Amino acid sequence: MALIVQKYGGSSVADAERIRNVASRIARGRGAGNDMVVVVSAMGDTTDELIRLAHQLVDQPDEREMDVLLSTGEIVSSTLVAMSLKAMGYNAVSLTGLQAGIQTDTRYSKARITAIEPQRIRNELKKGNAVIVAGFQGVNTEMDTTTLGRGGSDTTAVALAISLGASVCEIYTDVEGVFSADPRFVPEAVRLETIGYEEMLELATYGAGVMAPRAVELGQVYEMPIKVASSMSDNGGTLICKEGSMELRNRVSGIAHDTNVAKIMVIGVPDRPGVARDLFEPLARANISVDTIVQNAGVDNITDITFTVARTDVVKALSIVEPVSKAVGAVRVSGDESLSKVSIVGTGMQNAPGYAARMFRALAEENINIQLITTSEIRITCIIEESRVRDAVRALHKAFEVEFQQSG
Ligand code: ADP
Ligand code: ASP
Ligand code: MG
Repeated sequence: MALIVQKYGGSSVADAERIRNVASRIARGRGAGNDMVVVVSAMGDTTDELIRLAHQLVDQPDEREMDVLLSTGEIVSSTLVAMSLKAMGYNAVSLTGLQAGIQTDTRYSKARITAIEPQRIRNELKKGNAVIVAGFQGVNTEMDTTTLGRGGSDTTAVALAISLGASVCEIYTDVEGVFSADPRFVPEAVRLETIGYEEMLELATYGAGVMAPRAVELGQVYEMPIKVASSMSDNGGTLICKEGSMELRNRVSGIAHDTNVAKIMVIGVPDRPGVARDLFEPLARANISVDTIVQNAGVDNITDITFTVARTDVVKALSIVEPVSKAVGAVRVSGDESLSKVSIVGTGMQNAPGYAARMFRALAEENINIQLITTSEIRITCIIEESRVRDAVRALHKAFEVEFQQSG
């Protein structure tokens, strides 16, 4: 008898029929004699709808209330899955994050798990219950509900798998695994049989929404293998694990895209020490992550600084940057919200020249203008017009097609 930790995403519990499907999959595991701990997301687009609702009432909803509000989505689905299992004749219990012993720090909306106290879960398992845990939430030292950031049910699942000592964390979603690109954009994308943590983390951070980046990071730190598969079929699946064979390294693993990108340009900045600090310190204090930063070589003691932020942060970022720019004597500030990132990721790129050139050629052949470029050892990212993102992903997939076939 094994302990199985599973997670079902929003689309897998979107309506009564799908909830019944999830319950019968859990029943199958239970029927085979396994202990089942199952994390669920909110039904369908519930989280987005709750956010919209709050914003209809107030511009900047209270952080504490917002986290309690959003946590309810996962509570709803956990109760419905438990009810459905009971109706099938299996013992089951739903637990909130608090009841499941998930403790976090105090950062509302992006709390981090600090500890898991799994005693209640173990007790319920001993009683013969399948345990259905509401994902995406925990409780801080004040006993207030916190949420773990968008996609945070993945993080709950991986953290529980680690804390309970499962041998793998199973993530069920609406695709049959991790593909060489988002299958919604590229129908010919191929499923990857395995992918290393490092590559998956880079893909997830740069927009491959199939896994939350922090869940991958946790998996990597604790070496918890993560299996991504479909809740609708028993085919396929991708294992995210420690990178194995050296042979497989010399390649591009996947292409990610992210449309939540905005660019801020500060033009005509005096080229003297302290200006970058004056601009970026207040952004950091406001908890705004700045991604790509480009500063031109100064001419006549004047330079331009361009950087990107998430589009969802751009209004706040501009309200901070505009007064600072005036104070340091910059000529003007401008923002562009209609951008996207496209990235190629692969550990094999680090020792193989020519990947950047191939990427730029593929984009040039489609007449796609590259506005900014950033790289890590295993990734090359181009920032382009949002209207061309689909064309860009398709062109890049075609350009690197041969490599995916080797890895699939
Ligand atoms: P869930 O509700 O199960 O958490 P998500 O919508 O968060 O599901 O993630 C699944 C979606 O991720 C897929 O429907 C797919 O469109 C998208 N996706 C983006 N990049 C990839 C990729 N490289 N491989 C697979 N799916 C991807
Ligand atoms: N419901 C949350 C979200 O939509 C968490 C999750 O689905 O993982 O981000
Ligand atoms: Mg998800």
